[in-house]
This record gives sequence, C-alpha cells and structure tokens, in this order.
Amino acid sequence: MSYDIVRGMNDILPEEVTWWQLVEDTIRDVARRYNYREIRFPIVEHTELFTRGIGEGTEVVTKQMFTFPDQKGRSLSLRPEGTASVARAYLTHGMQTNAPFQKLIYFGPMFRYEKPQKGRQRQFHQYGIEAIGSLDPSLDVEVIAFAWTLMRDLGLTGLSLRLNSIGCAEDREPYHQALRAHFYEDISKMCANCQRRYEDNPLRILDCKEEVCQPFIETAPGPVEHLCQACAEHFEAVKGLLDQLGLEYAIDPHLVRGLDYYTRTVFELVSTDLGAQDSLLGGGRYDGLIESVGGPKTPGVGFAGGTERLILVLKEQTEAVEPERVDLFIATLGDDARGQAMRLTEELRRAGVSTEIDHRGRALRKQMTLANNVGARFLLVLGDDEVAAKKGSLKDMDSGDETPVELTPRELCDAVSQEHSGSCGPNCTCSH
Ligand SMILES: [Zn+2]
Ligand SMILES: [Zn+2]
Repeated sequence: MSYDIVRGMNDILPEEVTWWQLVEDTIRDVARRYNYREIRFPIVEHTELFTRGIGEGTEVVTKQMFTFPDQKGRSLSLRPEGTASVARAYLTHGMQTNAPFQKLIYFGPMFRYEKPQKGRQRQFHQYGIEAIGSLDPSLDVEVIAFAWTLMRDLGLTGLSLRLNSIGCAEDREPYHQALRAHFYEDISKMCANCQRRYEDNPLRILDCKEEVCQPFIETAPGPVEHLCQACAEHFEAVKGLLDQLGLEYAIDPHLVRGLDYYTRTVFELVSTDLGAQDSLLGGGRYDGLIESVGGPKTPGVGFAGGTERLILVLKEQTEAVEPERVDLFIATLGDDARGQAMRLTEELRRAGVSTEIDHRGRALRKQMTLANNVGARFLLVLGDDEVAAKKGSLKDMDSGDETPVELTPRELCDAVSQEHSGSCGPNCTCSH
C-alpha cells in the first residue's frame, strides 16, 4: 500500500526548490548587508510560550495550533510562528545580560491548522527578522528598509507598504473605550466574533473580514488618535526617517495585525498580485513580548513573511529560474570506456566540475538524450578508439563546436571550465 500525504502538508520537488533557493539566497545576502545573523530554533515548544507570547485570545492560539501531550503529559505545540521562539531563545541563552542587542534572521517551517488553500498550507514556511534591545525608531525603519531591499533584490514590483501605530500597553485602554463607544450602537448588527471581541479585545474588531462588519469598521477611530506623547513622537520619528530614506508607505489607520504582542509600529507589505487581504510580509514592534514570556522589559521589532506566498508572486512577476546545469556528460560505448568514464568522472567531481554518466546501461542514443535532460554544457563520447588513443572530442552542447581533448582530468577540466571559470574547485589541477 502507499500512503497519502497529510492534508495541508506539501512536498517541495527539485524543480520547485530552485525558487526556494533563490528566495533564501537573496534573504541571506540582504541579511549579510544589514548585519542580521541567522538563528535556528526548535519546531516544538512548550504550548504556554505561545499562549502567553502570542495571546490567549488570538485566532492562532485558540484555533490553529497543533498541540499534543508528550509522553509525560506536558503540553507541546508545533511552532505557529517564529517571534515567540526567538524571544524564548533570547532568554534561554541569557542574551538579556550577555548581549542584549541582537539582530537575527530565521527561516523554516511553521504549522497552523487552517483550511488549506492556494499559498496557505498547514505546514508553511516563514522567513523573518527580529531586532531586539532598542526602542530607537531607527530600528523600526531599518527593519522596513530590509523588507523593501529584499523585494527590490528579488525584482518584485507593484508592492505597497501599509503603516500604522497601535501605541503602547498604556494607550490600549483609552483606545478600547473609544472603540466601544464607537461600536456601542451597532454591535448587535455585527458578527458573533465581533460581539465577543467587543468585550475582550475591541482592537481585534478591526481585523474582522466579515462583510456585515465592514461599514462599522470603516468609520471607527484609529489607534493613532489615542497615542500617548511618547508613542506619538516615536511614530512621527519613524515616518520622518522613512521619508529621509525615500521609502514609500501609506498610513492605514485600521491596520492592527493579528497577534497580541504588537505595540507601536505595525506594517504590512502588500502585493497587488495577491487577493486584497493577503499581505506578503508583516511586522512591527513588540516591546512587551519578552516581558510576557518571563524576561525583563526588552523592546523589539521585526517582520515575518510567508515563503510560499512570496514564491507565488515571484513566479507571476519574474522569469523562471534556470535549473542548475551539469558541466559535463560522459557517454560511453563498451566496458573499457565505462571504466575510464567512471575514473574521469570521479576525478573531475573531486576537482569541482559537475559531471554525470549513465547508470542504467542505456544505449548511446539514449545517453545523448540524458545529456540533454541534465542540461550538460559539454558532452564527451568515449568508445574503444578514444580509450585506446587516450583522446576524445569534446562537444559544446550550446554551440555544437567540437574540440579535440586529451583524456586527462586536467585537460578536461581546463576545456570545460574555460567559459565557465568558477566551476573549478579547490582541488582542481587545471591551469585556472
Ligand atoms: Zn504610548
Ligand atoms: Zn465581525
């Protein structure tokens, strides 16, 4: 029998992985320039990290987590996002005292139990950055600049950045009161979720996607109208720096983001190629998060984006990524030639030249097809004559030109690498 793949989980096949590598290589390169260092953390954490970090009342925690007891009955969860784990790692390793200022980047699978749809799976992947240890608005702006640079380097256009400030913990209660006053008369006409949010966390009402709620949300006051002086000044400074750097943004007074840990700056990078409600990447400040998971008061700011969605947009906007080509294919006729081909292949591979041969006893014509299929740049055909003479003819598969070559690794490496310097490795004996 064979097994079905688990619903909402995906295999990423080699043709597809090319896109993933492009995205990851680009993110790593941007991270290098902005001086963010990679962190890797476990897929499983104690459930409480997420309930306390992300927020007990959030969709993610109440409905979407993969939670299970371990053998001793402790509640564990597959990570639904990365920021809470980064905060936990920060405390686990005593960074608050050793090195309180951290600029980190991560990639990896995240898990949310949702209805699978295009670009949204139960195992999905995120890339994200976190800058921890400073309240300075320059850090909010650096994080936003990182996001813009990443998109520009990937060649994406048609993006817009939505920006807002939701203030600090102290601003929340006056704002909640203002929201309750605004929704007071109409709350009975709104959806059941919003009626519950009205009591618990009226800010979440602004996240509601239900049609029936939209008219009431559109006229609601924004959190910006209820910022304390420090938060108002912070937001002004962020906008001022974005202007100075020439980074585009549009103020969205109702942008609040779906997780409880956000404070002050929140933003989303939206692509016009995705559905109206899909953002490519989102983030903001989380000045209370580390405290809420048991650490000292430590500010932070970051963003996370979904890799699958980013690749969807990339595929629509950019040329297909060229698959990797093999430098040399050695086709053989007869056992002697095959032995010789194996020896040459191994030496060339050690020298850094990607080389392929047939492993399934194919006829010569089929081996040629195989050479084409792997995108070989050069083809060498070895028969008894070539082996006896220790000479062969190297065919450039793009131009069709043939060049005589000695059957030594050095000469072959030289010939194959001429137009492709860089394919030689550290052990190469050729003249490059
Ligand atoms: Zn404030
Ligand atoms: Zn609603």
